[in-house]
Amino acid sequence: MPNIQKSEYFEYLKDESCLTGECDGLIFISNRDEIAAAVKSSRPLTVRGAGTGITGAAVPSGGTVLNLSRFSGVNGMGEDETGVFLDVYPGTSLSDLRAAVSRKDFNYFFAPDPTETTATIGGMFGTNAGGPTSLLYGRTADHVIAADIRLASGELLSVERGRHTFDELGCCSVPDGRKLKVKYSDAPPAVLPLLPRKGTDLLDLFAGSEGMLGIFENIRLKLTPVPKHRWSIVFFMDSDESARLFISDALKASKKWNGVSLSALDYLDRASLELFRQFRLKQTRLRTIPEPPGNARAIFAELVSDDASETETALNGLLQICSDAGGDEDLTWAADTEKEIEKLRLFRHGIPDSVNGAVGQNRRADDSITKMALDITVPGKAIDVLLRDTHMILDKCGVPYALTAHAGANHFHINLLPENRRQIELCRSVTDEFFNSAVKSGGMIAAENGIGKVNRDIFRNYIPPEHLELMRRVKQFFDTDGVLNPGNMV
Ligand SMILES: Cc1cc2nc3c(=O)[nH]c(=O)nc-3n(C[C@H](O)[C@H](O)[C@H](O)COP(=O)(O)OP(=O)(O)OC[C@H]3O[C@@H](n4cnc5c(N)ncnc54)[C@H](O)[C@@H]3O)c2cc1C
Repeated sequence: MPNIQKSEYFEYLKDESCLTGECDGLIFISNRDEIAAAVKSSRPLTVRGAGTGITGAAVPSGGTVLNLSRFSGVNGMGEDETGVFLDVYPGTSLSDLRAAVSRKDFNYFFAPDPTETTATIGGMFGTNAGGPTSLLYGRTADHVIAADIRLASGELLSVERGRHTFDELGCCSVPDGRKLKVKYSDAPPAVLPLLPRKGTDLLDLFAGSEGMLGIFENIRLKLTPVPKHRWSIVFFMDSDESARLFISDALKASKKWNGVSLSALDYLDRASLELFRQFRLKQTRLRTIPEPPGNARAIFAELVSDDASETETALNGLLQICSDAGGDEDLTWAADTEKEIEKLRLFRHGIPDSVNGAVGQNRRADDSITKMALDITVPGKAIDVLLRDTHMILDKCGVPYALTAHAGANHFHINLLPENRRQIELCRSVTDEFFNSAVKSGGMIAAENGIGKVNRDIFRNYIPPEHLELMRRVKQFFDTDGVLNPGNMV
């Protein structure tokens, strides 16, 4: 299919980063044979799920786009000594997967939740997607127990968790009989993908690999027992000081709970709520969600437990902490039924969605504007101090921004929203400041959303050269000719 016209296939040339690429061909995959055939006949290839990624990792830079979003469905289910598992094709969307396991008599669910339910499981493993509930449940790779992976050479690797790990000499056996030998580095990693260490499971090397090592054809997922009690709560505070106090005290209190876990604790700043308020007016699907109170900051929390009375104690404790921090308990939204919880999750998801909407709007005025989202972790300091300092730096910079944070993990999503070229320049220096402080503290500079093409150039300035070498070595081992997803990461 030569010369794909932008207008015709525009949606397959971009993702949620607003980066737009180009390609000469587009193949819709619907089974495994078609993947094998595509790998033989077309190169280079850019692997694509639903295109909801936010770093341009599925955006083509020439060659052929392999669209896997139609290769979907559950193709098996079973139980072994580790629990219940499900085999899915890579194009299965998160919402279809949830629907498949949501029978009344089936008490298991798939825990990872990047909130974007159109995302495919292949894309989620390809980015190692996290989300608010990763505080308790971890990320996608923590729930993948095996995968069939098609390499660019045409070979199919079946990788099972626990079968192949990197030893103390930097060596790992691969199911095709080869051995991958690497030189470890002692430097703390500022990014996660493609950086094996002693004990790394081979399957985890493919997590977050952004389609650069191989194409997932089948993914075996571990399911999690559904907790008996689940609460989603949104607390509102009218000052950042109150929000910080609430977060800090809620985290302390949760450590003393008995049989109740905090599965999410996210801070959403005033600008994020303001963007949501405007976005909600334009989106009928968001109208079922009440309007957040004016001038508020929010904390989105989730609790899970199997014990009703302990859940109630924890819930009442959080409400008390809210009042003590200066919040108004009566403004709180709380839900414990599946339907109402979904509404609050839709609200949570609506925040990054609103940010993307704002970027799109700014882009219409100046098409050099793309999403400038910092996704960093800064360990070692108290979250309330970090939140205060982050706001101070951003306010001083003077570029409009929206800040959210996975508070339990010192993980910040800083969305810079420049409106003109001068502000784009200012964003560069503030990015530098945040990246340096993340790296200095032993944190991550692409903590959740990946590197892709959007962050590729900038991330190289912050990671040690030996890490880049190591990542290239891994890429070269699995994809010697650089066929898959050129332009991503390394
Ligand atoms: C509003 C919004 C909120 C979001 N919130 C979060 C969040 O909280 N946490 C989070 O982690 N992410 C979040 N995301 C990002 C996004 O949803 C995830 O990155 C998602 O996992 C990508 O899935 P996808 O199917 O769209 O993949 P794509 O964007 O199509 O692809 C992503 C990468 O995976 C690779 N890939 C896709 N399929 C395969 C395959 N079969 N084999 C090998 N590689 C493959 C691609 O090549 C690409 O490199 C959000 C996105 C939006 C729009």
